[in-house]
Amino acid sequence: MSRLLLVTGGSAGIGAACCRLAPARGWERVVVHYGRDRDSAEAVAEDVRAQGAEAHVIGADVSDPAQVSELFAELTALAPGPLDLVNNAGIVAPTASLADLTPERVRRVFEVNVFGAIEVARQAVAYMRAHAGGGIVNVSSVAARLGSARQYMDYAASKGAIDTFTLGLADELASEGIRVNAVRPGLIETGIHAKGGEPDRLARIGHTPPLGRAGTAEEVAESILWLLSDRAGYVTRSILDVGGGR
Ligand code: NAD
Repeated sequence: MSRLLLVTGGSAGIGAACCRLAPARGWERVVVHYGRDRDSAEAVAEDVRAQGAEAHVIGADVSDPAQVSELFAELTALAPGPLDLVNNAGIVAPTASLADLTPERVRRVFEVNVFGAIEVARQAVAYMRAHAGGGIVNVSSVAARLGSARQYMDYAASKGAIDTFTLGLADELASEGIRVNAVRPGLIETGIHAKGGEPDRLARIGHTPPLGRAGTAEEVAESILWLLSDRAGYVTRSILDVGGGR
């Protein structure tokens, strides 16, 4: 049974980098999950296939539990195997201070970044228990440590929740051999900044981390796939900063 790698939000940014790197790091089967952009997910899948691995494309809004169930129904129809999950799909909302953190905005950030990630993990673990185990890496953010005042405290708080969830889930699953870790990326070159209304964010502050530059999605993907690999077999309940010292 060959291992399956499921990457939520695999159509862009860090998720796409994980999918594209996976064959070179030993995964023969990759599920490229996407939210809305099927064409981009198909392009990522093609890049995976070009390296000789199997790739599948499945769409779902992670904030909708029914759609997450459909995602896992499709996944269960594939040949079974251990499942490694990159719990990556996430959003930021535009820069704002407390007065503009409306209930609707905060709810949406938490629906995707927290409720979605927990539901994906819940259904993934059910699959793992039925199909020879696996591992989980949750994608957090250095914002969880920094708080992101006057930027997006709701986003930072959502990632703080992911850090705490990672600790609890690691404790709960350790006796089953399922390792759970998180990475906290810093300022990374992806489209998320433009989607959050700040296309020039990295040009403005990309030089500020101690390493003097923004990171790449590929650098984050290397850390994620290492944590999921057997080479990190004694690593669980860890939260790894990939933030250039930030
Ligand atoms: P991105 O915008 O390039 O990719 C985000 C992915 O999540 C996309 O594939 C998108 O389709 C998917 N997604 C968003 N909402 C979804 C939903 N409701 N249902 C399903 N899929 C959904 O951003 P990225 O920078 O690659 O971000 C990936 C992860 O890394 C996120 O969790 C983000 O918070 C985290 N992160 C990014 C940075 C950074 O600087 N880029 C820093 C810290 C943490």
